[in-house]
Amino acid sequence: MVKLEKISKQFTTASDRLFVALKNIDLAIERGEFAAIIGRSGSGKSTLLNLVAGLDQPSKGTVSIDDNVLSGLTENDLALWRGRNVGIVFQFFQLLPTLTIQENLLIAMDFVDVVPKKDRLEVCKKLLEKLDIADQADKLPATLSGGQQQRAAIARSLVNDPPLIIADEPTGNLDTVAGNKIIEIFQSLSTEDGKTVLFVTHDMELAKLAGRLINIHDGQILEDTRKAKVE
Ligand code: ADP
Ligand code: MG
Repeated sequence: MVKLEKISKQFTTASDRLFVALKNIDLAIERGEFAAIIGRSGSGKSTLLNLVAGLDQPSKGTVSIDDNVLSGLTENDLALWRGRNVGIVFQFFQLLPTLTIQENLLIAMDFVDVVPKKDRLEVCKKLLEKLDIADQADKLPATLSGGQQQRAAIARSLVNDPPLIIADEPTGNLDTVAGNKIIEIFQSLSTEDGKTVLFVTHDMELAKLAGRLINIHDGQILEDTRKAKVE
């Protein structure tokens, strides 16, 4: 489903030097896979996720998701594609602080406009129930715990039913119990709902819950292992 071919990404640094953040990466991720990306700070994990999410473009190589080559899309088409196909979850939740949880979900549906208007409240209700925060629908994000805010952000990422979920250190700002719950939710999105989930973590215990472990070092894939399927 996700295919990176000979991807390089370089940045121009403040002192006008070129910095190569990703070096000639080939990576294929199947539909429904639940994969963790690990690696130290600065190794290129976020850069890689941003390319897969279509938030940034590679310097060389191609990123394709299903049959879409992302570099072939205009900025506008890319934003539309992203809205329909990728759910993005961040370390610091990025919920809009002046909107209630339900409004945060509704606005994500407005933007993409694939869910019929009459169904939107029902979609919110179902997702908030699924993520165990139905009672928080009318509250502002700041009144929720970190774990609840992240679950709200996951609910928001799911409103348009995207096949691909991308999460950059989604547990980085959470305690162990809340973090575990988040990764378990991702696991069930993959195994129960067939979503492809790609997340970055620093926590090896959480990474081990994934079906696949991709270890990035200095912009290259050092190790890529799949867990044997338990039947
Ligand atoms: P990670 O997420 O693994 O910590 P990143 O992908 O954020 O690493 O960054 C990889 C490297 O690329 C880092 O050295 C970082 O400083 C550099 N980098 C990332 N984004 C930019 C940018 N927009 N401009 C310049 N350098 C960048
Ligand atoms: Mg990062």
